[in-house]
Amino acid sequence: MNPPFSKILIANRGEIALRIMRACRELGIKTVAVHSTADTYSKHVLLADESVCIGGPSSKDSYLNILSILSAADITNTDAIHPGVGFLSENVDFAKMVEDHGMTFIGPSPYHIQIMGDKISAKQTMIGLGIPVVPGTPNGITTEEDALAQAQLIGYPILIKATSGGGGKGMKVAHNNEELLLNMKLARVEAKANFGNDGIYMERYLKQPRHIEVQIIADHHGNVVCLGERDCSLQRRHQKVFEEAPSPALSSKEREALMSTVQKAIKKLGYRGVGTLEFLYENGEFFFMEMNTRLQVEHTITEMITGIDLVKEQLFVASGRPLSFLQDDVVIRGHAIECRINAEDPHNFMPSPGKITTYHAPGGLGVRVDSHVYNGYLVPPHYDSLVSKLITYGVDRPEALSIMERALREYVIDGIKTTIPLHQWLLSKEDVQTGDYTIHWLEKNLP
Ligand code: ADP
Repeated sequence: MNPPFSKILIANRGEIALRIMRACRELGIKTVAVHSTADTYSKHVLLADESVCIGGPSSKDSYLNILSILSAADITNTDAIHPGVGFLSENVDFAKMVEDHGMTFIGPSPYHIQIMGDKISAKQTMIGLGIPVVPGTPNGITTEEDALAQAQLIGYPILIKATSGGGGKGMKVAHNNEELLLNMKLARVEAKANFGNDGIYMERYLKQPRHIEVQIIADHHGNVVCLGERDCSLQRRHQKVFEEAPSPALSSKEREALMSTVQKAIKKLGYRGVGTLEFLYENGEFFFMEMNTRLQVEHTITEMITGIDLVKEQLFVASGRPLSFLQDDVVIRGHAIECRINAEDPHNFMPSPGKITTYHAPGGLGVRVDSHVYNGYLVPPHYDSLVSKLITYGVDRPEALSIMERALREYVIDGIKTTIPLHQWLLSKEDVQTGDYTIHWLEKNLP
């Protein structure tokens, strides 16, 4: 089969850049790495066919510097750009500029990025497509009077969220009118600082939900396939720590109903590319929260249980080829778990950048390590603290858990602090062993 592209620029760094590069290499596509001056010795730079330094260590000077990235693509004769996750992956202007420059943006259309990038328009779109959403304000909130009146309708506790939010930032809980007025102000400041937009809205704050998300992939020819769900309920500060697929909470009937609703909705939406619909699940009901119009960090566990390489399929779909499988071809088999290993103190979660003095990755049947670090690698202080994704696969959940326990024990990353001990502690907990947890479990139980 001919490669879908001849040369791709990967506008990202770290493990995800490497993940994309691996798929490209296997498909015979040449790769261009871009990097900051802090990442000169990063594995994604060392393993790419070509590399271009695009700016200083700060993300805004490099991985968010659209003009430098486009120039790098231009001088290397790239025919497509993969944005990875984070950075510019959900930036409408970037997607448009890539296409305006005659290259393919590996992702959905700018139109879909735009409607899903604003959480209010995303929720309204989903309501129109027949998907239930978390009860909340139909529009952004502007005045204090409006907020107080809406709060009466929704009922406390209420979650204030940023309309352009991401990474759990800008979210505040309010239990009464006073807290609402105070936290609205704080949420606005945080939203403005993080997203350059102080738009906020409110939702009912669910007390015991699980975070369950559905992976989809769609092509240019109207085919939409659902690749099952992931349970990402174990979170700290609304950020995912440990993910598993399938969710231990869903019955096969619930799963099938959810998949079929999502598949129909995405077909109507006319979406193409990979995407994830995030839901809260409580008392047998699903409530849509948001849609991520890109690859996700935890796509790996879906790959393990379906045997489908999501990045390769994403590249095929972006090139205009129809999907090579249909819904009935998808078989979900076994169980997969991902532990996000961060360069952080496992007790107080302070970042722990620095030099890795000894590195030994686990192996053996059922173990996958997606990581860009190596012996002697210097973890820079400028970026996300994720240093490795440790993924295990077993014929069932108990086996995936026991392989994870064994793999964590084998994993050696010396010189910096990591969250390996946090995951070991997690796996020792009965609720995690039985799969009995909600999105609040981790914060409630942390020592
Ligand atoms: P972000 O885009 O910032 O990651 P999300 O809307 O995806 O924000 O929410 C992140 C997490 O915050 C969810 O996985 C969930 O744990 C929590 N959360 C979001 N909305 C609610 C809600 N209405 N009630 C309770 N928890 C929520």
